[in-house]
Amino acid sequence: MAEIIGVEKGSPASKAGILPGDWLLEINGHPIADVLDYRFYVTEKRVRLKLHRGPDIYEVTIQKEEYEDPGLEFATFLMDEKRSCRNKCIFCFIDQLPCGMREPLYFKDDDSRLSFLQGNYVTLTNMSDADLDRIIEMHITPVNVSVHTTNPELRVMMMKNRFAGKILEQMRRLAAGGVQMNCQLVICKGINDQEELSRSMRDLEAFYPQVDSVSVVPAGLTMHREGLYPLEPFNADDAAALIDQVNAFGDECLKKHGVRMFYVADEVYVRAGRDLPGEEYYDGYPQIENGVGMMTSMQAELEEELPYLQEDYDIGKKRTLSVATGAAAYEYICKLVAKIEKICYNTTIRVYKIKNEFFGENVTVAGLVCACDLLSQLEGKELGEKLVLPSVMLRATGDLFLDGVSKEEFEEKLGTPVVYSETDGASFVRALLTDE
Ligand code: SF4
Repeated sequence: MAEIIGVEKGSPASKAGILPGDWLLEINGHPIADVLDYRFYVTEKRVRLKLHRGPDIYEVTIQKEEYEDPGLEFATFLMDEKRSCRNKCIFCFIDQLPCGMREPLYFKDDDSRLSFLQGNYVTLTNMSDADLDRIIEMHITPVNVSVHTTNPELRVMMMKNRFAGKILEQMRRLAAGGVQMNCQLVICKGINDQEELSRSMRDLEAFYPQVDSVSVVPAGLTMHREGLYPLEPFNADDAAALIDQVNAFGDECLKKHGVRMFYVADEVYVRAGRDLPGEEYYDGYPQIENGVGMMTSMQAELEEELPYLQEDYDIGKKRTLSVATGAAAYEYICKLVAKIEKICYNTTIRVYKIKNEFFGENVTVAGLVCACDLLSQLEGKELGEKLVLPSVMLRATGDLFLDGVSKEEFEEKLGTPVVYSETDGASFVRALLTDE
């Protein structure tokens, strides 16, 4: 049952007499528990809706195009409570947040429905067999699964959840139902790396082609770990060993399946002091939403843009600009900027590396840079006509930094116009060279 809060004017639902305040109970005889039920059953051309208005139950039939939205707006996106996770992972980033941040940041979400609709990674630990069967029945695919390890006892230990050991069984059920899965392995030094990682990679390879991409990402460790499980960050040698281990196995997969299946996160290469792989490594970037291959992809897109700069922008215009990014992407952004400056011969672009004082310097990715670090480290620096920031520094709704500072407040405190760029080459060039 879901509360309707709006009905689009002139829509099939409005013509059928549905009003805001009504509650949707069923579509074509199927009870509606959440957004997945709704989206699955509402696609038909002819839908019979059972609704609740005050004390009355009534029914309407809507004729519409197949897949056409009937024009209903619900109280919440999920049409249900968001499911929180039942794990206490030893590497959980949320447990490592400092006190005093915005309340929603402390919410531990592990809702499979968000995985299907928005690409979030889920552990499957709070899903019953009936939930898995519903995924199969609705042909929902792909599902993004946080695996971490396939060793049942180790997974139970790492996630502090006695139900976490069933992952292979659950994945087998989904695979047999034709569900495609993207996986991630968050690696904790000395815990699920080395032999355990080899075991996980072998187990996951056995799911090919239902699993054809697995990102290998180091656990993010902030400086706020008091009282938490002791974990050590990867140093340069550890990072290099991790790359070699994963890529040796990936080379075998490439020979057998035509894709390498296992992809090491960009930040591991940076930590190891190694160049990022070329485009061919990423097999079309199946894990780019997880930040894997982002810098290589951005560099390749920028190379494609460069021949058109003269056509699209005033390359002789005098400009002074600035860019700020996290420590991991700094060297790469400097290289990209040098290529733009070479063509735009009157443009000077300063690039600033922002050290993460808020979470600690082990956290190097741009997406976790907070406004407080930007403001303190850019104070007194030459920023020119505008500062370009990656939009990943803002939360998903695009209005606030992680530490709760709004875009407007940030710009006012900085005293310089700020432009946000998506993490692709064309957006980066546009953000820099488009004149306001
Ligand atoms: S699944 Fe683990 S890492 Fe994710 S929110 Fe829950 S406790 Fe944290």
